[in-house]
Amino acid sequence: MIKLSNEWHFKLFSKGKAGIIDCKNQSCQINIDYEMSGSSEYDILIAPLDINYWHKPPNIKISSETQLELLSELRNWLSLQKIKSNIDLPNMIEFEKIKCAFGQCKNNRIKGYAYCLRHYNLSLLKNNNKLGL
Ligand SMILES: [Zn+2]
Repeated sequence: MIKLSNEWHFKLFSKGKAGIIDCKNQSCQINIDYEMSGSSEYDILIAPLDINYWHKPPNIKISSETQLELLSELRNWLSLQKIKSNIDLPNMIEFEKIKCAFGQCKNNRIKGYAYCLRHYNLSLLKNNNKLGL
């Protein structure tokens, strides 16, 4: 079965203690700002991701599903570059038999966290007040 998926391309531009990551798929582009992290836990800080609107074409809303896809693709790319960031997943993903703290969500939460995987990911996105989207 052929899976139709967006192919994403990333490029990191460093300007001293901060910079941007240029993110592109076939038709759209957005820059994501980052800062160098002062801690040994991360190399860069990028969460919460401000990815509500494309930069090109301008002012077009990015759907929540596409935001989650971008988050996951960027996370994979950063890990291939051996860059640790605050959008990384917890080292060990285990689930507890305790429900996610979000609203009526019926998923089990990640061990040691309040949320299930989906709501954990949504919590890394900026202005996503309605985590349930
Ligand atoms: Zn949940």
